[in-house]
Amino acid sequence: MYIKLISQVTVSISLIFLTAGCGGGADQVFEQARLENPCKLPVADGRGDVSIGGWPRINQRMRATGTVTSQVIMVDFPDAPAKITPQQAFENIKGTTAAFNEMSYGKFNYLMEPTYKWYRMSKNATEYDPLGPTFEKHRAYLEEALKLADPDVDFSKSESFIVLTDPNNVPFVAGPAFSATDLPITLDNTDFYNGTGSAADLATWGFIWANHELTHTLGLVDLYASESKDTTNYYDILRFTGQFSYMGDITPDSFAPGLFAFERWNLGWLEDDQIICTTENEITQLITPLAEIGGIKAVIVPITSTKVVVVESRRPIGIDRNLKKSGALVYVVDSAVQSGLGPIQVYPVDTKNDPQFTQAPRAVGENIEIEGLNIKVINSTITGDTVTISKKK
Ligand SMILES: [Zn+2]
Repeated sequence: MYIKLISQVTVSISLIFLTAGCGGGADQVFEQARLENPCKLPVADGRGDVSIGGWPRINQRMRATGTVTSQVIMVDFPDAPAKITPQQAFENIKGTTAAFNEMSYGKFNYLMEPTYKWYRMSKNATEYDPLGPTFEKHRAYLEEALKLADPDVDFSKSESFIVLTDPNNVPFVAGPAFSATDLPITLDNTDFYNGTGSAADLATWGFIWANHELTHTLGLVDLYASESKDTTNYYDILRFTGQFSYMGDITPDSFAPGLFAFERWNLGWLEDDQIICTTENEITQLITPLAEIGGIKAVIVPITSTKVVVVESRRPIGIDRNLKKSGALVYVVDSAVQSGLGPIQVYPVDTKNDPQFTQAPRAVGENIEIEGLNIKVINSTITGDTVTISKKK
């Protein structure tokens, strides 16, 4: 296994470690899934730890349905003692469970069990380096923190962890996810492949930070650009998906942080029968709002073996309550494209005039031509958006 790091251009954007390797022996299972549904994309980006594709998902990633218990351990440092109580620290991430619950339609219960105690690390914070340069250093930091709490905590019933720090008194800029493909952290005879540590960016992002990092441990990728082409423009790193999905924009005032339908389908939060995968020359379909339980949530058209076009319906409901414009959202998913390089691209693109993609959802009469398809909204009500998707002749 070798390690490389995404080049970091904005200190407040959180990162995940890149670990290369193979996705594991899921090929046959995937081929069967693909035969049944050609919109199920393979793990094809060459990373090994996370992917926008994968049916089944990468083996080591966290369970995405049912109740997953997580131990929340709080640490501080000789040179950076916590200045808030453990209870105050936990307040920062309390909303995480409800956000997962909403986006999974009640299917995923991320149950956090905090131990309200600051454990003092053995070295100064400046001697740890959770952002790099290696996976081993990141792992060693988290392992020391968790082992400090081991005498007080039974880890044997848990599948995830969060190492929490005082975000206003820690020198780490970003708390990357721990999403190992091997070398798990072992506590109480239990192997932990998934968890996260927090850093100063928790103060910026709030609880949605934890949803973002933990969603990496569910196997999903970064949707913001890992490199800025224009460092004078903050929104340049959002050039692929604007403010759609907190795997792109993590800011708490984002108008549409809800995960995409494709992401929710991959996690098992949307069922196969809620997705229309079509190769027809033309289809007209009502798509119900993504934030509501039940109904058809997306029409997907396969383009290549790794690429699909997706149409879903967004409304200002729940986590997307600040949505600027309702309508049918169109995007391309390509599972051969790595995290940070645009594995999802929302259309239409108008990064100059609308860098947050506020106007991207299509209203009645609006259309998009993309990947040989013409996608037009022919009706829009509170029950959803009716779209006609036709192949260009
Ligand atoms: Zn990330």
